[in-house]
Amino acid sequence: MTRIEEQIRADIVEAGRRLYARAYIASNDGNISARLDDHRLITTPKSVSKGFMTPDMMVVVDYEGRKVSGERDPSTELPMHLEIYRNRPDIGAVVHAHPPLATGFAVAGIPLTRAVLAEVITTLGSIPIAEYGTPSTGELPEAVRKYIKAHDGMLLANHGAVTCGPDVMSAYYKMETIEHFAKISLVARLLGGENLISRGEVERLQGLRGMYGIPSPAPLCADASEAGRDQVVCQVLEAPESTTERLVPDVSLALKQASRDGEIRLTYGELTALIADAVRTLKD
Ligand SMILES: [Zn+2]
Repeated sequence: MTRIEEQIRADIVEAGRRLYARAYIASNDGNISARLDDHRLITTPKSVSKGFMTPDMMVVVDYEGRKVSGERDPSTELPMHLEIYRNRPDIGAVVHAHPPLATGFAVAGIPLTRAVLAEVITTLGSIPIAEYGTPSTGELPEAVRKYIKAHDGMLLANHGAVTCGPDVMSAYYKMETIEHFAKISLVARLLGGENLISRGEVERLQGLRGMYGIPSPAPLCADASEAGRDQVVCQVLEAPESTTERLVPDVSLALKQASRDGEIRLTYGELTALIADAVRTLKD
């Protein structure tokens, strides 16, 4: 076994341990895979807790999902991984888990598409929800295919989340970022709603990606006109226009306030943000 293969197996074991330790998976849930070379992938075995794997448990498969070596069988979710590799020649690893807060958003049908945190904007952009597909069938790869060309991470409706990256640990860290973002979004919504980062600021943050060593193309869709390009489905980030402010009050929050006293009071900035949002929604 080559040093590279040993390292990949060790990374998968470590990522599985962290997924389980953070309760991103229960029982035998979740799966991880990584490219070994142009013909082979290494992936986690099915019917095993991913928190207690050893390197020898891994399964080597080809890009059609056929087992090449290993005593165990690969996960039934392997076709979703294969679909991601087929659509993303630039990535080297895929992580799938059921982190409870992100999965809560996926169950509620609420995508994590609001421009709220700088580090999420620079790493993941917006996080869409792939439509529900019965696990272990062709429906799930089909649903994931729609968004994967533009997004490194997404929620899976009534199921969980999936992320990809150049290597196992970077794909794993994106899963952490999604769950952390879901937690913060939930708390902000419980406290009355998010202030959104303005479009101008989002564009500035996007410009800083190079500085953070995040490769292009950015899995971020700054405006609706980008969404249809090359048939790539891209979930647009909710970042209202505001020429004067970097943070803009969430419009839905202003409307919530309005329903309380029966009167809508908006500042000029909020009104223009509302109109810009409405125009963008109409264009979609
Ligand atoms: Zn799953």
